[in-house]
Amino acid sequence: MKEAEADITRQTETADRTRTRYPVMEHFYTIQGEGVHTGQAAYFIRLAGCDVGCWWCDVKESWDASQHPQIATTELVSAARESGAEFVVITGGEPLLHDLEALTAGLHEAGLRIHIETSGSSPLSGDIDWITLSPKRFKEPLEEIFPLVDELKVVVLTRKDLQYAEENAKKCPEGTRLMLQPEWDTPESIPLIVDYVKRHPGWTISLQTHKFLNVP
Ligand code: SF4
Repeated sequence: MKEAEADITRQTETADRTRTRYPVMEHFYTIQGEGVHTGQAAYFIRLAGCDVGCWWCDVKESWDASQHPQIATTELVSAARESGAEFVVITGGEPLLHDLEALTAGLHEAGLRIHIETSGSSPLSGDIDWITLSPKRFKEPLEEIFPLVDELKVVVLTRKDLQYAEENAKKCPEGTRLMLQPEWDTPESIPLIVDYVKRHPGWTISLQTHKFLNVP
């Protein structure tokens, strides 16, 4: 009897997942370009929709979710599983604008680890194995995300961003990987970061290597 009930629960969960769709700008198998997992093969799911509005954003076409197709969770899970990737990066846009429960359950069931890249400005949902917080002053992270952060990645344009990075780092758990990333079109941030990391070796530099390598 218990097994039959478990079967029904499983079937209901699968049906729910089939029904859950997400606005997706793109999903593809590639090499992680930035942050702690740079250079590793990963399946990227770029969810559409963002309400943060960074003026220097390089994926502005992701902001309006209505401009992108709604794709079923099962389709995304199959594509990720069939790619041969060991982990999936859910990114955006701002991926936490969506309830990630169904997507993360499906990906875990397929044996995949799940990473997320988020500004932390909307409530966390789903079950995620690695959280990269990239805080933005345009819409600050919610306090609830800080104890769960694995990697803090702060985009740097000016000296003020280094101070902002430290303010955010103070709220993260001990052992969080701390990364400073130059904004791609602001090369003058590079000497600032190099000098800062030499003086504060707890921080490391993250580069957008996918742009050098010309991979998506
Ligand atoms: S949070 Fe990310 S996607 Fe949204 S505007 Fe900023 S850089 Fe762009």
